[in-house]
Amino acid sequence: MAKFNMAKTKVPMPEQDPNERNKNFKEVTLGYSLEMAQEEATRCIQCKNRPCVSGCPVGVQIPEFIKLIVAGDLDSAYDKIAETNNLPAICGRVCPQENQCEGKCTRGIKDEPVSIGRLERFVADYRNNKDYHKPVEVASKNKKVAVVGAGPSGLSASADLAKLGYKVTLFDAFHAAGGVLMYGIPEFRLPKTLVQKELKNVIGLGVKLKTNTIVGRTLSLQDLFDEGYEAIYLSTGAGLPKFLNIPGENLNGVYSANEFLTRMNLMKAYKFPEYDTPVHVGKKVCVVGGGNVAMDAARSAKRLGADVTVVYRRSFEEMPARIEESHHAKEEGINFLNLHNPVEIEGENGWVKAVKVEKMELGEADSSGRRKPIPTGEYEEYEFDSVIIAIGQSPNPLIKQTNDDIETESWGGIIIDDTTMTTKDGVFAGGDAVSGAATVILAMGAGKKAAENIDKYLENK
Ligand SMILES: Cc1cc2nc3c(=O)[nH]c(=O)nc-3n(C[C@H](O)[C@H](O)[C@H](O)COP(=O)(O)OP(=O)(O)OC[C@H]3O[C@@H](n4cnc5c(N)ncnc54)[C@H](O)[C@@H]3O)c2cc1C
Repeated sequence: MAKFNMAKTKVPMPEQDPNERNKNFKEVTLGYSLEMAQEEATRCIQCKNRPCVSGCPVGVQIPEFIKLIVAGDLDSAYDKIAETNNLPAICGRVCPQENQCEGKCTRGIKDEPVSIGRLERFVADYRNNKDYHKPVEVASKNKKVAVVGAGPSGLSASADLAKLGYKVTLFDAFHAAGGVLMYGIPEFRLPKTLVQKELKNVIGLGVKLKTNTIVGRTLSLQDLFDEGYEAIYLSTGAGLPKFLNIPGENLNGVYSANEFLTRMNLMKAYKFPEYDTPVHVGKKVCVVGGGNVAMDAARSAKRLGADVTVVYRRSFEEMPARIEESHHAKEEGINFLNLHNPVEIEGENGWVKAVKVEKMELGEADSSGRRKPIPTGEYEEYEFDSVIIAIGQSPNPLIKQTNDDIETESWGGIIIDDTTMTTKDGVFAGGDAVSGAATVILAMGAGKKAAENIDKYLENK
């Protein structure tokens, strides 16, 4: 084993120059070379208590895979990760590691933590580039399970159920599987070819994929039981956008971030007319919100050539977006109008013309621990050609609307018990549909847990 590298900071990740990347949709971060990965891997001191593992919702054996990178055995490093994580190239890119594995890293007490995410990405990319799939042994059980929603939660549940020997069919409403990984997170943060590669790995386990199928419309849950599925996992996500409910929200040129990003990512509007879905942003774009979705929308609009301003009612420091994302946005030339709240969208001939905003000031901390924005009664007006609203999403209500016996919280989250089962026998649920908008890895962790519970349920049935 090589000597530990006690450098205080992570090996930096090469990135496209901000003034180049804000004009293209290619990936912003470029990935480690083998030398960089090994240099970073030797920063892991292989501590005995391994707190990083408890910080990972899918329990990746982190010190073990890092040790294998140091030894230069990248295939074994990949196999070690893949024992518990079905989508490592995706997680290595989009997981908020600072709150999970890296947030618990022993090196992080005094210095920067080991860059676990970048190392996971490095190993996963190495293996995906080889296009080699290690055969996975699956026990055979003659039982069918339906998974509804092919986002990270449904993919993770499907893969684990297939490995347990179940005949899994994965249904999705869209024409392409992947959920937010395909329709929400932009190409420059998560290339779609890579999502498709990891999706192919899951399908390769024997999972049947049925797209263009809206469960609750095309098929009911009862239809699925009638077709011989003995358990159902609902992972339908949180795709219902919230709006501001202010005058002018129905004008042309106002989008929910959900619609805007779906057009951009899934329908490739940025390649119009090569792809047939256009998107109108105009010269000046207002993005309302301060989370990751707002940053993704703003950075996407910037790449279409617009001058983009993020309007958020609290300060820059209090924005809920990952620090990395808001800093990337700033570097790329996005303007920030903090401590301002839109009160009206003004129009001309049916199209957006301007946004009226009220100045805010910060009061006492609220239940989220952040200082509450307080209206001042002072108003300003800014001209914009389009407005993208990114103030949150809630679970899609369709399953509840079409199934009285599935109970939900008042805000729409599907209620589950300790075994992840909903109030309907044989129907399980997890991911954003249960928790509300959260993260890829938490959705995957929920899918894993549900697969274990479905197995127990069907074994006892
Ligand atoms: C723009 C954006 C950026 C994000 N960035 C990050 C990030 O950087 N890091 C991170 O960790 N998290 C991020 N998130 C959050 C993360 O993507 C979600 O928490 C995660 O995708 C939830 O996974 P899921 O499988 O529960 O749901 P989803 O990914 O939403 O997948 C749900 C799937 O169910 C399908 N569906 C819905 N209803 C039906 C139905 N009735 N019948 C059939 N299919 C149905 C949908 O078409 C969809 O494919 C982001 C979210 C957004 C919107």
